[in-house]
Amino acid sequence: MTKGKPTSGERPRTRIGHKLILSFVLLVMVVVGLSGWVLFELTDRSLERQMRDHLVSVATLVSTNLSGNVLRYLHPGREHSTLYRTLVGKLQRAEQGVGARQIFVFDRQYRSLLDTDGLMPIGREYPKLLFHRQELERVWKGHTAHSVLFYDDDVPYMTGYAPIFHDGEVVAAVGVEIGAGFVDSIRIFGRSVLIFAGLGALLTVGVAWGLARTLTRPIQKLVEAAREIGRGNMGQEVATASDDEIGYLGETMEEMRRKLVARDAQLRLMLGGVAHEIRNPLGSIELYAGLIAGDLPAGDERKQHIEKVIGEVRRLNRVISEFLEFARPAQPQPQPTALAPLVADAAFLLAPEMEKAGIQYEMHVAPDLEAYIDGAKIERVLINLMKNAVQAMRDGGHLVVRATAEGGEAIVEVADDGPGMSEEVQARLFEPFFTTKEKGSGLGMAVVGLIVEENRGQIEIDSRQGEGTVCRLRLPQSKDGVPWAES
Ligand code: ADP
Ligand code: MG
Repeated sequence: MTKGKPTSGERPRTRIGHKLILSFVLLVMVVVGLSGWVLFELTDRSLERQMRDHLVSVATLVSTNLSGNVLRYLHPGREHSTLYRTLVGKLQRAEQGVGARQIFVFDRQYRSLLDTDGLMPIGREYPKLLFHRQELERVWKGHTAHSVLFYDDDVPYMTGYAPIFHDGEVVAAVGVEIGAGFVDSIRIFGRSVLIFAGLGALLTVGVAWGLARTLTRPIQKLVEAAREIGRGNMGQEVATASDDEIGYLGETMEEMRRKLVARDAQLRLMLGGVAHEIRNPLGSIELYAGLIAGDLPAGDERKQHIEKVIGEVRRLNRVISEFLEFARPAQPQPQPTALAPLVADAAFLLAPEMEKAGIQYEMHVAPDLEAYIDGAKIERVLINLMKNAVQAMRDGGHLVVRATAEGGEAIVEVADDGPGMSEEVQARLFEPFFTTKEKGSGLGMAVVGLIVEENRGQIEIDSRQGEGTVCRLRLPQSKDGVPWAES
């Protein structure tokens, strides 16, 4: 737990940013992906349908130009006959006309009758038709048909089939094989959709990131401001530049901070007034009680009573002093100050109490170690810390004060091996009037917090129940290292 000038704090949470980016990207991916997919499917289907229709009409055209009757004369070995050559020539012209790859005619046993590529002798069975048996069943029933898309050497093809009739019977069929050029266009189209989706996603990430930053930055600032106020550092104005809801929240927080500061000041003023009013009559009470005590003989029981009164009055006076210390607006006068004398003074003041409790005291502070502080006030801090340590070790223990320099800061540790503090006590440690002691004022650590803050220092508490407590002060060593000029 720390108190004093702001520390680096927790890692900022960036969940809004992540959520925003994620939802944006998801949205764009879904919209682009879905519309791209629908477009792709629609285009693919319509292009394929066009291709099918084209194939079927070419096949039908060729089939109507062939008489089923003449096909009967195409026997194996007659590839050189005039009839065969005339018919193949006819098919080749049609092939060139429609840009087909191959036009072929075959009988119901899938044996070749005519073929434009000239490699297929009459009567040889077409192995490739094995794959189109299902479609061809339709053709034998007198309908046209088409194959699905197939690839030959990575080039896409489709075949259209039409029946050839003789005497009302299907005697053969014609196949027209055409390269499916649309497949390439469709591939390019698909690739473009993917590229656009990718670019869209990248762009969205950028836009969402920017948006998230503009949104979360002021929130982060407010979080930091709230954290500072929570730590009791209410000097910093809560500033927000935006005029939106976040700006409104910032204004509200600033209003709250001002009211807290005002209430704090009012409270301290009141406390100071009350303490002052009580202090004067207390002085008189102590004085007159002292006079009465002096008049009474040593063995008198009333003398013991009056000495009890004096003791209580003194205690009250000490509490009142703490009240005043807490209430008095402090203006520190920082200057290079040796730490060792301050620690020694505090120890001297507490020596009787330490001796009474049987506490072993050790001090490790180099005589030349300096800090840029208000010496009188930091001595008050040391007294309060050491006093708490002493009061925590009623049955004896070790009190060690150790100071070192580190990175432009003087570090002073006040360590005890007393009972330590629970998490709950640590959380409320710097609260004014928080005490666990029967006769405590609860102002010791509140004063420590105030003074440390005013001296641009920090205090860290390491405490574990049953193990003891270390209070670590970090004090600036130079005027430049810490922004004194700003105050
Ligand atoms: P007070 O001493 O009047 O109780 P402080 O503000 O000085 O008020 O301390 C607040 C409380 O913090 C104490 O009542 C005590 O419970 C706890 N505390 C402070 N210092 C120590 C310490 N060194 N060891 C154990 N508890 C401590
Ligand atoms: Mg105390």
